[in-house]
Amino acid sequence: MTRSLYDLDPGQLEALVAEAGEPPYRARQLVHWLDDRRQPDPRAMTNLPRSLRSRLSERFAEAGLALDQHQAGDDGWTHKFLFRLPGGDAVESVLMLYPPAGSRPEDDWEGGPRGRATVCISSQAGCAMGCTFCATGQFGFTRHLSAGEIVEQVARVSTLLPELRPGPGAPDHLTNVVFMGMGEPFANQDATWGAAYRLHQGFGLSARAITISTVGLVPGIRRAAAEPLPVNLAVSIHAADDATRDLLVPVNRTWPIAALLEAVRDYVAATRRRVSFEYALMDGVNDDLDQARKLGRLLAPLRIPRSGGHAAHVNLIPYNPTPGTGFSPPSKSAVRRFRDTVAASGVPVSVRANRGVGIDAACGQLRTTAGRTGRRVLPLAEGAP
Ligand code: SAH
Ligand code: SF4
Repeated sequence: MTRSLYDLDPGQLEALVAEAGEPPYRARQLVHWLDDRRQPDPRAMTNLPRSLRSRLSERFAEAGLALDQHQAGDDGWTHKFLFRLPGGDAVESVLMLYPPAGSRPEDDWEGGPRGRATVCISSQAGCAMGCTFCATGQFGFTRHLSAGEIVEQVARVSTLLPELRPGPGAPDHLTNVVFMGMGEPFANQDATWGAAYRLHQGFGLSARAITISTVGLVPGIRRAAAEPLPVNLAVSIHAADDATRDLLVPVNRTWPIAALLEAVRDYVAATRRRVSFEYALMDGVNDDLDQARKLGRLLAPLRIPRSGGHAAHVNLIPYNPTPGTGFSPPSKSAVRRFRDTVAASGVPVSVRANRGVGIDAACGQLRTTAGRTGRRVLPLAEGAP
């Protein structure tokens, strides 16, 4: 079954229009709608003959994402979407709008001189990694998304964006895509990379506007080092010693911190690109200054070859409460002290502004309450039986 029209390659689209008795240029028109217009709904493809439109929409009636719920938060600057997938499962995507610098001084977020519109997309329904602090992880894994289903989230949010803008100061088109929604992108590598290439080649997003975040799956980091598309890599580290990280990120038992950092070092050596390290700060768990100093010591030696500049950037995320996990956010002063201690090691560090907390759209708060109950499956180390 075709999951999404975005899963069809140009050859398949040509075969499809030929089957309908239409000339080959109709396939190019279809690609124009899918990629340039980011329109996945055949009924809206107005320059295609009516017969082809209805044939396509009948044939693919079961395919594609259906918008099931939409919630706005942060005065309309954050939007959460629940998309129903073919087969009945569901994923969430989040749109975060950032005004141009200086235009909303009351907020602690801003999007540079021209503003920014970032969509946070899911790569799986649920997640099998079981991180103990993450709502998605607690829910378990339901299924992988296809490349087309990942791309279609971006298409759907793009076409919704103009009507959702909270005011004329807000950006009117998508500028960034982050693979930071539900799921572990490197547990679904082919679909993730397929989507990343389509977003670049088809949707015209620059590779630097795309960020893939991983919990630290070493084979995935090695593949990222070899892929020609220079997207940004983010690594969720969350602790600076294995004992603490084991408690938070079960996959640390397969690829402990030393193995993870070795893969990142090789990635930096191969690509000369910076890597961001995400660190969700939890009260009394990983927010003590000893962890901050250790983190600095681990990351300060990561340098860009030749230039010698720091290759690591730490992104601190004050924990977003998720019921039932038993973790809680640190105080503002604990966040400041942790940040200052990391900064003292020379490693660039920033605190991520919390977005979407009021609508459960913030990092780690996404869950498939509307889908099936998931299960946990941990990946095995390379070479393991
Ligand atoms: N699976 C990938 C992509 C998800 S990104 C990964 O883990 O990197 C979501 C980010 O939010 C990750 O860094 C994740 O660890 C973090 N996160 C999860 N739950 C959170 C929470 N409750 N508060 C803050 N950050 C959280
Ligand atoms: Fe999965 Fe990432 Fe959540 Fe861990 S933090 S359970 S890897 S989505």
